[in-house]
Amino acid sequence: MLEVMRLRGDEGVRKMAEEMLKLGEKTREERAEQSTGGMVPSSRSGTFISRALAEATATTLSPNRKVYDGEKKASLPGTRARFEGDPATGDAEVDRAYDAAGEVFELYAQAFNRDSLDGFGMDLVHTVHHRANYNNAFWNGTQMAYGDGDGQLFQTFTELSVIGHEMSHGVVQFSGGLVYEGQSGALNESFADVFGVMTQQRALGQSVYDADWLVGKGILGPNINGVALRSMKAPGTAYSDSLLGQDPQPYHMDLFVNTTSDNGGVHINSGIPNHAFYLFCMYMGGNAWDRPGQIWYKALQEINNPLATFGNWAAQTLDAAIDLHGNGSYEMLMLRRAWKLVGIDV
Ligand SMILES: [Zn+2]
Repeated sequence: MLEVMRLRGDEGVRKMAEEMLKLGEKTREERAEQSTGGMVPSSRSGTFISRALAEATATTLSPNRKVYDGEKKASLPGTRARFEGDPATGDAEVDRAYDAAGEVFELYAQAFNRDSLDGFGMDLVHTVHHRANYNNAFWNGTQMAYGDGDGQLFQTFTELSVIGHEMSHGVVQFSGGLVYEGQSGALNESFADVFGVMTQQRALGQSVYDADWLVGKGILGPNINGVALRSMKAPGTAYSDSLLGQDPQPYHMDLFVNTTSDNGGVHINSGIPNHAFYLFCMYMGGNAWDRPGQIWYKALQEINNPLATFGNWAAQTLDAAIDLHGNGSYEMLMLRRAWKLVGIDV
């Protein structure tokens, strides 16, 4: 998306996009170091535990949130704004980040028996008001940070699915990692989208049929022609705007985008596995965090391949479905059909 802004935007937008691309590279480098540099032993990967056991033990897990105010500066984490147990501050960005972090923690604790992002109860560190007019949010390997947006292209980044997305990058990192480049990078992005929307659906009590399947609904500026950052239900339709361009996401392998920008299209081709998850959920009904979420989470814990392709990932989810529900089960057959509908045979 930033690439499009650089090409199409006016002088101010173009400068901002170039600046952001540079910053993005730096963040990605930091993330790559953190997630692939072997700082996290593979033994720290979470192990999969059944839903029943998860629910029995999850009551003992509780978050330790630390929300900081970046005061529009670049340094992290900033000054203390709201730590665990503190009352609401009245700063909407601070309070939304605090509440959202609680929802994400609860999803992983109660549905997946995971104690925080690393599985070992790590602090949930968030910085809001990061930099001035900053049009992005990110996980840098140790914490989340959110700009306020410039008010034109974006008006906030502290939206529940976005926060769930960024925090889920942490879960991927501490589960063995998916290298942030090409297909493995798009899978990393997709896992973050899947668990971001799942957080929102669980918080709102929505079944897979009630949900809108949008990532970042309401964060675009008031004059942008679009509804969200991405759509899992209909990849490629989230926005169509003179500044942002057209949502570039494909929903099928026939439309796979070969590109060197965006780390090889990590935010673009993620539309394909995103849509497979959506289709699978439509076959399953109920809640995304039940059968579909359990299969996706188990696959992440067990794939043990930081350079996984879409095909590798699809096969891993099928293995997970067979382990959980049996060979020839409805879950297995419908999952295979969902992957086939996006052009991936398993
Ligand atoms: Zn991401």
